[in-house]
Amino acid sequence: MSLKYHNTASWLWLLGLLGLCGLHRIYLNKKVTGVLWLLTFGLYGLGQVYDMFVLKGMVSESNTKFLTKVKYSSPIFFNYAPTLIQGGSTLPREELVKCEYCDTDKSRGKGCTTCGAG
Ligand SMILES: [Zn+2]
Repeated sequence: MSLKYHNTASWLWLLGLLGLCGLHRIYLNKKVTGVLWLLTFGLYGLGQVYDMFVLKGMVSESNTKFLTKVKYSSPIFFNYAPTLIQGGSTLPREELVKCEYCDTDKSRGKGCTTCGAG
């Protein structure tokens, strides 16, 4: 898996006009439907035309899956992957709560660094 480009996916989609349907799906790791598209001329054209409208979303989806995967396996990606994910959420931040003993801020689920409680 790697990052996918909308341009590349678009060119592969255009090959459908030459009868080579579904290559954009194979490129975006949708291999089963990609081969199906290839064998059926993109579900007799209907699937291929449908993909024209959802192509951008399919590229984003593929990249989100990829970045989510590397986020948990690569420390280099850990910090900036969320900003690359289109419409994705940022990493969860530590939630601050009041310590019930000394009333200072502490991280939820962790011991208090001020009084040592918890
Ligand atoms: Zn405390």
